[in-house]
Amino acid sequence: MTVRPEPSGGSVYLLHFEPGLPVTGNRVARHYLGFAEHDVDARIEQRLRRRGSPLVAAVLAAGGRVTLERVWTGVDRGFERRLKRRHEKPRLCPRCVHDGVTGGRGPLSPAPA
Ligand SMILES: [Zn+2]
Repeated sequence: MTVRPEPSGGSVYLLHFEPGLPVTGNRVARHYLGFAEHDVDARIEQRLRRRGSPLVAAVLAAGGRVTLERVWTGVDRGFERRLKRRHEKPRLCPRCVHDGVTGGRGPLSPAPA
């Protein structure tokens, strides 16, 4: 897959945390969805240097790994808002889909042998 931001329009990117970061209640944050107006690589680089997102910074500070899983190009902030409202980031994340993670509900029970 080629990831090439188009000159017109922004990009939305999905970061995956390994392991997830425990937040309020029983919830575990596993993803960060962000928007970059121009240079998506620079924006992600910034996040990985713990700038701009307290959530990403906290994952890194806890020794977790942050990986880029998906980029949508040629989109606007409305697209980002729509994705966020859907509350199904695990389904948008290729890694989680592959691993069978349903997200936000703790670890899955072991798969039947
Ligand atoms: Zn994921």
